[in-house]
Amino acid sequence: MREPGTTAVFGSFVLAERDGSPVILRDHWVLTEGRWIAAVTPTRPEGADEVLDEPGRFVLPGLLNLHNHCFSEAVARTHSEDGVGRKNNQSIVYTVLLPLTKRGIEILSREERLAVARMRILQLLKGGCATVMEPFRNGIPEMFEAAEEMGIRFYGAPYLFSTSDAKADASGRVIYSGDDGAADLAAWDALHARWERRDAGRIRLAMSPHATDTCGPDLLRTSTARARELGVPITTHLAQSKSEVATIQARYGRTPAEYLDWLGVMGPDLLAAHCVNSSDGDLGLMAARGAAVLNCPRVFARAGTTAAFGRFASHGVRTLIGTDGYNMDFLGEMNAAAMISKIASGQAGVATAPEIIAAVTAEAAPAIHRPELGRIALGAAADLSVIDLSHPHLQPLYDPCRALVWLANRANVDALMVDGRVLLRDGRLVIGDEAAIVAAGAASIRKIWDLPEARAAFEG
Ligand SMILES: [Zn+2]
Repeated sequence: MREPGTTAVFGSFVLAERDGSPVILRDHWVLTEGRWIAAVTPTRPEGADEVLDEPGRFVLPGLLNLHNHCFSEAVARTHSEDGVGRKNNQSIVYTVLLPLTKRGIEILSREERLAVARMRILQLLKGGCATVMEPFRNGIPEMFEAAEEMGIRFYGAPYLFSTSDAKADASGRVIYSGDDGAADLAAWDALHARWERRDAGRIRLAMSPHATDTCGPDLLRTSTARARELGVPITTHLAQSKSEVATIQARYGRTPAEYLDWLGVMGPDLLAAHCVNSSDGDLGLMAARGAAVLNCPRVFARAGTTAAFGRFASHGVRTLIGTDGYNMDFLGEMNAAAMISKIASGQAGVATAPEIIAAVTAEAAPAIHRPELGRIALGAAADLSVIDLSHPHLQPLYDPCRALVWLANRANVDALMVDGRVLLRDGRLVIGDEAAIVAAGAASIRKIWDLPEARAAFEG
């Protein structure tokens, strides 16, 4: 990609940081030079290479989406809603996501996998997020290539499994097989050597043992030690299904959170997705250890399960937000996080717009030890998510933060800058052909849908 130049971006509202606190500035400019914010000023900067000057824009720090799956959920979408693909109303993790992704990777060519990755990163960008943390099977290294060429800020998190082949039998019982922890750690190391800090640090890795039931004690200990040696974040799935909780209880006499704590995994560098089956005691433990919950409300709402941001936050756990791949409308996900919290608690005052916005900006960045992200201030990274608040459904307007969380959606994402490069302008990708990217990616996914095992999973 070309080296970033200077860009001046006008905001009728700018969510900036002053003395460590968020502040809404009216009618300000953000000037970026190279990969950094060089000024936040009420006067129009002179001589910028590129100028974004439209009325009614809300300029936010580039939003951080800390849990997403481009590949597996592309396989599931429009097939697995309304209860399809579930056995006994249980999770589709073991009937659709794990088995069909594993098979899909095998039958697609490198170019076809790359096409899927490009299509899904396009969706992420158009969904409003500048940074994504993306766990995926290590048979899709093309995720890194697509991220590098499309400009998103990327934490690739290639999975490690003790049992890479976990799938439900006819009764819905999960059968675990495979033993490739050592091979997965070697694959992770190779990807780390190739990709970590590419493009001046925009591309990075996270350590990603898949989940408590698919990773045994040795692999969890070894991978955690490796992550801490390298200073990379650790992300996993935790208490995401009832069967996972039952499996860990039967194997170790512990809850999934207690299992991770027993192994020394639970700490301030752990980002644990979902936690919907965590007990109050588990959440207290996570708060005490400084671990974060990655709340993905919509994918659980799809299955009739409440994943309430406000429940996790009320236990004092650092609570951040991800889209989990299913519907990568990050503004819509923020709305769902707020809405579901209010329904779950019966309280209108929980999960407020400022709390939700902080969870995808100023709270998210320190959780991955990136103080230069998630804020608009002199010297911060030049990542901006720009929302067009001039749409009819967003007027009249009193509070831009409430408008963002309660009224806006991905169709209002007007511009996106990552690391000083404008990737979206007027809501469109400026660095590639959207229609061609979508056509190629969708054709690749349809090849997986045509597999007999896919037909069986969706129709059985
Ligand atoms: Zn996930």
